[in-house]
This record gives sequence, C-alpha cells and structure tokens, in this order.
Amino acid sequence: MSESKDFLRSIVEEDLKSGKYEEVITRFPPEPNGFPHIGHAKSICINFGIASDYKGHCNLRMDDTNPTKEDTKYVEALKDAVQWLGFNWGENVYFTSDYFPKIYDYAIQLIKMGKAYVDSIDEEQMREFRGTVTEAGKRSEYASRSIEENLELFEKMKNGEFKDGEHVLRAKIDMSAANMKLRDPLLYRIRHAHHFRTEDEWSIYPMYDFAHCLSDYIEGVSHSICTLEFENNRDIYDWVLDTLGLEAPRPYQHEFARLGINYTVMSKRKLLELVDGNYVSGWDDPRMPTIAGYKRRGYTKESILNFCDQIGIAKANSMVDVAQLEFCIRDDLNTKVPRVLTVLDPLKVTIVNYEGTEEIDAPYYPHDVPKEGTREIPFSNELYIERDDFNENPPKGYFRLTPTQPVRLRHGFIITCKEVIKDENGKVVELKVEYHPDSKSGNDTSGIKVKSAIQWVSAKEAIKAEVRVYDRLYASEAPEGLEDLNPNSLTIIKDALIEPAIVTEKIDERFQFERQGYFYADPVDYTDEKPVFNKIVGLKDSWAKKTSDKPVEKVEQKKQAKNEQIVGTEVSMNSEQQILFDKYTNELGLNAEVGNILARDEKLSSFYKEGLSELNSPINLANIIVTEVARELKESNELKFDAKQIAQLVKMIDDEIISSKIAKQVFEDMAKTGENPAQIVENKGLIQISDPSIILPIIDEIMEKNPDNVSKFKEGNTKLLGFFVGQVLKSTQGKANPKVVNQLVAQKLK
Ligand code: ATP
Ligand code: MG
Repeated sequence: MSESKDFLRSIVEEDLKSGKYEEVITRFPPEPNGFPHIGHAKSICINFGIASDYKGHCNLRMDDTNPTKEDTKYVEALKDAVQWLGFNWGENVYFTSDYFPKIYDYAIQLIKMGKAYVDSIDEEQMREFRGTVTEAGKRSEYASRSIEENLELFEKMKNGEFKDGEHVLRAKIDMSAANMKLRDPLLYRIRHAHHFRTEDEWSIYPMYDFAHCLSDYIEGVSHSICTLEFENNRDIYDWVLDTLGLEAPRPYQHEFARLGINYTVMSKRKLLELVDGNYVSGWDDPRMPTIAGYKRRGYTKESILNFCDQIGIAKANSMVDVAQLEFCIRDDLNTKVPRVLTVLDPLKVTIVNYEGTEEIDAPYYPHDVPKEGTREIPFSNELYIERDDFNENPPKGYFRLTPTQPVRLRHGFIITCKEVIKDENGKVVELKVEYHPDSKSGNDTSGIKVKSAIQWVSAKEAIKAEVRVYDRLYASEAPEGLEDLNPNSLTIIKDALIEPAIVTEKIDERFQFERQGYFYADPVDYTDEKPVFNKIVGLKDSWAKKTSDKPVEKVEQKKQAKNEQIVGTEVSMNSEQQILFDKYTNELGLNAEVGNILARDEKLSSFYKEGLSELNSPINLANIIVTEVARELKESNELKFDAKQIAQLVKMIDDEIISSKIAKQVFEDMAKTGENPAQIVENKGLIQISDPSIILPIIDEIMEKNPDNVSKFKEGNTKLLGFFVGQVLKSTQGKANPKVVNQLVAQKLK
C-alpha cells in the first residue's frame, strides 16, 4: 500500500470503523467492447488494490448492456489484463446480463410505485423538453399514463412488439431538477440486437444509470468507485436504490480522476478505429496503450503497477507525462536485466594486427548491483561496430572512434583507426584498425586514454536479428485522431547483429542492448532461427532531445557525457543525494523522476529548499523547478528571478488566480525581465477567468458555431466535451479556469 492514504482509502477506513460495512466489496466494471488500456489499469489497481488492502473482495464484472458493440474476445482480453497485473477476482466473472431478469423486476416495481413511465415522444422532442441549465424542462404528456397502461406497454416492449426507438421507460423524478441528469432519465430502451450472451432473449436493454447501481446492489458491493465524469450520475444512483427501498447496507458511489497521458489516446472507440483501419497490427500492437500492447512490447507488470502507484489517486483530472511511464519501465529493468552487445547499423572493422580467435569473459550485470552471471563474447579480427560510432569529421565533443581518436571496444581492447575504406559514392564501408594487446578491459596497462567504450560483435559468430524500434504512436501532445499519428512510429531493422549468447543462453527475454535501449524477444514472432526483438524503451528520454532546438554538438556532448559513465547507466547517488531523494519522494510526495532530478542537482535542490521556505506547495514548486527553472539555469548563467518569486508564481496557481498554462507564459516574462509575477499578471491582464457570467456567453457562442458537434454530443458522443472545453480555453487564450469551463460546458450540453 502507498505510504500515505488516498481519499478513497480514507473513506473505506471510516466506513469500516463506523460499522457501515462488515466487508469491503469493490468491483471493476468494464464494458467488453474493446481491449483494456492503461487507464483501466489505474482503475484495476484502485479497485482490486483497495479490496486487498482491507481484506475484502473485488468483483470483475462485465458491464454488457450494449449488445451491438460487445464480444467474448474482449471479455477474454479483460480477464487476461487483470490476471497479468496480478489480481484475482475469485471464482466467477460476473456479467450485468445475468441480472437482466432482476433488473426487469425492479423496473416493474418502479412502475407499480408510479415512479416510472413509458414515454413515446421522439428523441428530438425529448431533447427539447429537457430544458437547459437555466430553464426547467417540461414533462411529456405520456407521463400521465396509468400504471396499468405502463405495465402493459413495458411488457410489450420486452416482448419485442415495438420497433427500436418507439418507446422508452423513464424514471419519474423531476423535470426541473438542477442536476439535469435527474430530469426523468431513461431506464430502458428498445434494441433489437443479438447479445453475445443472452442472444435474442431481450428486446429491451437497461441503461447504465439503472443497471449499474442495481448490479452493485445485487453483488453486495460496498464502494462503487468510478471516474469523475459520473459525478452527476451519482444522484440517479442514489435515487434508484432509495426509491426501491433497498435495504442497508447498500453501495455508495465515489469518484476519482481518470488517467490521461499526453501523446496517448485513451478511448476504446479511438483505439478500435486504429485496429479496424489497420493503422496498427492489432489490439496488442506494441505501440498501443492497451495492456496487451504494453505486455507484448515488453513492459513488466511491476512497471505498470509502479506507475499506477506513483500517479496516485486524485479528485481533479490532470494530464500525466508519458515520460513518467517510460521512466517506470526503465527504472524496473535497469537493475534487473542482462546487458549485452548488439549492432543495429553495422560497419565492418578489420583488425590488421590480430590473428585467430578468443573469447572474452564479460559480466551480464556490469553495474553496481551485485548480480552474478557472465558469458563469453567471441572476439576475432573481423568485427562490426555501430556506423554511428565512427566519424571521419567529428563535431566538437565527439568521444568515439575517429581517424585520430582511439576508442575502447566494450569489455575488450582499445582500437585505433588506420585506414578508412569507401565505396565509389564515398560511403564508408570498412575500417582497418589496430588493436592494443595490452589494453584489455580490466587489465589495461597500455596507458592509452579513451573517452568512451562502444559496442561491437564478431562478424562470424554474430546472429542476425530483426529489431522493431517503436516510437510514440502519436506525434501530437494532445492527439485527437488519425491526423495526429506519428508516421515514424515503427522502424523495422532487418539486419541487426547480436552477440550469440542472447540466443544460445536465453538468460532472459528482456535485455539491455548496451547504449541502445531495452529490448524484448517478441512473444509472437521470435524464433531461434529468426530472432525478433521489440524495443521497449530507450535508455533515456529521447523526446526531450528531439524537441529541443539545441545545436547538434551540444546534444552530442550531453549524450557523450552520459555515455562516459559507461554506456548509458545512471550513476548511483551519493549518500547526501539519496537522503534528499528519500525525503522528496517519501515526505513531500514527489514522484521518483522529479525527485531524482532535484536530488542530483545541487543548484536545483537548494533553489527548491528556498522555495519551500516561502510556500508549502511541494509538488507544484518541484514541477516548475525541474522544468522551467532547470531549463533557464542551463541556458543562462545568471537567473533574473529568485526562489521567492517562483513561490509567488506557484501560489497564484494554487489559488487558481492563473492556470498552469498561463503560469508558463508569466514565467517566460519573469525570466527575461525579473519582474514580479503578480505584476506581470496584472499588467498583461492574465488573471484566470472563473466567473460563469463571463464564460457562459462564450460557451453559447461556440455551441452556436458548432451545431453539428452539439447534436453529436447529444446523441451520445460525450467525448466531444473536450472539444468544447478546448474551444473555450482557446478563445480566452487559456485564461478561462479549465475546471469551471468543464463544469459549465457539461451542464450546458446536457
Ligand atoms: P473508454 O472511454 O476508454 O472507452 P470507458 O470508461 O468507457 O473507457 P469502461 O469499460 O466503461 O471504459 O470502464 C471500466 C472502468 O474503468 C470504469 O470504472 C471506468 O471509470 C474506468 N476507466 C476507464 N478509463 C479510465 C481512465 N482513463 N482512468 C481511470 N479509470 C478509467
Ligand atoms: Mg464506456
């Protein structure tokens, strides 16, 4: 369990203490209409995690009330995912469809109580009658049908005597309720469709709002945990259970923030579009954010669990940086997996002063964690090195092999270039080199200084492999759809060369290919005859580099500086740094990546300390310091602002005077001029707008301009909520308070 209790666990503990429930029963209730994604992993961790922490139980329930989209293959994928993450649902998987008869009986009961009626107006009229946030709705004339008539019609609906859409069953609640969800919500609709479990038995299907609370009740669930977008549904949840007079203990709904990750789409509908359109090879394509995709890519379950633990459980939606997930897998594999030598883009090297062959004994785990295991690497006079590791006209700071600069062959000898052989186009095709017999790694008496060590393989013994290098599936930070796909998300290298032990010794399925990244033997396509490896993740965040506009040389220097610590391994922290790191992550609640950056950088950590003495907002302060302040420190020698000013800036975010987006803008100005943030905000009129009377007209205008999207939303495409919110933020140049906009838009669109 996490160190500090989250708000859900606090609620559960309170409820156990007060005796409200004897046992904690949660459930994970996916709709089997697609493969589960990393967002579901968060929900799985929460529901199963809480049940296990409090010695309760978590049900796995397929929420299968929408016959047209659901399928057994998705049921299997969901079971696989839960199991792979290490959770246990006990004997049975539950299905909402198993409760159809019971749910039907509850509907009859509501009708008999005069609390539900069959309505027969068309959809458009229904929408009109619903009213708006500011105007009460109007009840349909059919609401006055007698109980007998309602019972008769409802039975006929069930028996398939009407067409889709002809009638619906609605709860009779309140057409002027402030919460628009309570304006006589639908309980049942007619759907002549084949259901993958109940087949053609039913012509009517219960709506989520009716089926969900009753399924929870039937299963004896105590805590019904769902994501924030269901907040407004909570009133119906309670209405149904209370109106039916269902006995205590009954379940209550609690909401948490759903997971969003940048560069990632997380909607089964959009993921299905990728699969159906063959943009990816399937639900388990290693680029997909599905659990099956991560699994095939080579992610470990530990890395996913750690990630879910790190992001925590919050009550406000936020965006997590995909780099954090990548950090988690790197962090997990760093000490676990063997390190081996491979060459992805081979350049031939002939050692002119070496004859015969020998085997070099090399450790699989050459880093600071003591873990046994070595293999023999064949060495001969014909090798391959990475094409990149030789440069005839090296830029400043290039530390690898050049015509004048020797380099070490990892675990082996130092070589010096003697001759560069080119083809007719001037492309380098071979290097003739000399090796230094007295320079062997671990026993080097040569006195030759080298600046780095590079990977290599012996030509004759190396094994050919296919390597699939994956990059982010989307090029855009906030991808909307197909137009944002990254055209270079997959590169297939057919002729990579790997050292033989990888295939012959099979010490693991995951490896660190030294200086290249972490790789996984593809569980589907790998054979010993044709080894296939998936790149899991690079050794460090390569996107940070890609998006920076630094000159190549600087990037090269940075890369090399790191390589010098022997090929891509993080140096371990000294004890002072470790103490800081522990404090940051354990006491102040920073995530490991942020803690890591701060602890290792003396300037940043002392800046942070000063900031904290001004303002107790450890997470927001840390975030701005490791990004904005760190960048500024790197780029200029002298800072124009101090920690006090940063604390002021963060306080304005905390107080919701400005959004974090605007804060970046303010920061830029502050970094340039040294002016106080409050002053900048005032001069530029950047104060966040939270006043509904200013925001509402903007929403109206945007709805007017986009009637198509409004009707699509009302037809059920709730994902368009983001579109509207985005438009409002855009038209206020990011000044509108996103939380308020979200709420207002949601109300307006109801
Ligand atoms: P999607 O919108 O991606 O299709 P969904 O919400 O329709 O997802 P369900 O199968 O209905 O998916 O969800 C099962 C459970 O997983 C629900 O309790 C839901 O709240 C939760 N869940 C879905 N997406 C996320 C997410 N991004 N973060 C956290 N929990 C999520
Ligand atoms: Mg759904």
